[in-house]
Amino acid sequence: MAPATKTRRSRLTSRQGLDVYERKRDFKKTPEPAPRRVKGTGPLKFVVQKHRATALHYDFRLEAGGTLRSWAVPKGPSLDPKQKRLAMEVEDHPLEYASFEGIIPEGEYGGGTVMVWDEGHWAPMEDADPVRALAKGELRLLLDGKKLKGSWTLVNTGDRRWLLMKRKDEYASTEDITVTQPRSVRTKRLLADIARDAGGDVAKAATGDPKIKKARAAAKR
Ligand code: MN
Repeated sequence: MAPATKTRRSRLTSRQGLDVYERKRDFKKTPEPAPRRVKGTGPLKFVVQKHRATALHYDFRLEAGGTLRSWAVPKGPSLDPKQKRLAMEVEDHPLEYASFEGIIPEGEYGGGTVMVWDEGHWAPMEDADPVRALAKGELRLLLDGKKLKGSWTLVNTGDRRWLLMKRKDEYASTEDITVTQPRSVRTKRLLADIARDAGGDVAKAATGDPKIKKARAAAKR
């Protein structure tokens, strides 16, 4: 094996497990789930959480090895195979995190509003073992979500940097799905609605909602 590959693999491994997740959070202050490694049963979960923290981003999470492997995708996923979306690998999250929608208190790690933007199941296409498939640093995967479907590619381009790309199939499109489908798949809420319901920063959350809502509100005044 080439030394470069070894280095890359060991760096990836250092973010796996839930110790980093636990270290970054005070579970007396945040409503996020405490770390717990659980063996999932049945098909592998995936979730995309829209997160208005310091900046708006989409957290792409894949169940593998009893936790959620996680990437922060600043621009969100694209259905257009020509768009390569940067996905920065972050620490593993507990499986229960897949259902977290609400606010993380300001001042805490990731403070802001979190939405379950998409969810469903995933499967690696070339290696049935998801941990091994991800360790290769380049994989094709099938997503079966409510918004994201079909064949995708996830490729590591060095250290924490990965690219998330749609592959050409019947689900590929030039539609900007982050704009056309901005709401929670669980509750149909926008970020501002979630912040309002949970007593969060509504104005900050609203900056992650589509501009059309602002235009409508302005027209009503
Ligand atoms: Mn995040």
